[in-house]
Amino acid sequence: MNAKRLEFFKGLLNEQMKELMEEAAKTINDMTITEGEFPDPTDRASWESDRNFLLRIRERERRLITKIREALERIEEGTFGICERCGEPILEKRLEARPVTTLCINCKQEQEDQEKRGIT
Ligand SMILES: [Zn+2]
Repeated sequence: MNAKRLEFFKGLLNEQMKELMEEAAKTINDMTITEGEFPDPTDRASWESDRNFLLRIRERERRLITKIREALERIEEGTFGICERCGEPILEKRLEARPVTTLCINCKQEQEDQEKRGIT
């Protein structure tokens, strides 16, 4: 992949990272503001389920942030866009849709098939 394309993906990843960080900050803010403000048990219950929802989002965000960091590292190392299983280049179209991906479409398919059959 040429330097211009790498620069493009770097921008894409940085943009996604920024959005995630803002989202994460907002989530944490919401949680601290809401905590301990509901005398009514019904409100309390609905807050508890909201809170669980937020915690799940945070977990997802955390995982995504890690993946973005790793993708940025791969850009620095020059291994970005190369499938980590078979070593073939990953289609740029696939990378544009999901720049954190580390597998080409074939290997991804294979991995999903194996997961379905319970091999991995
Ligand atoms: Zn592959």
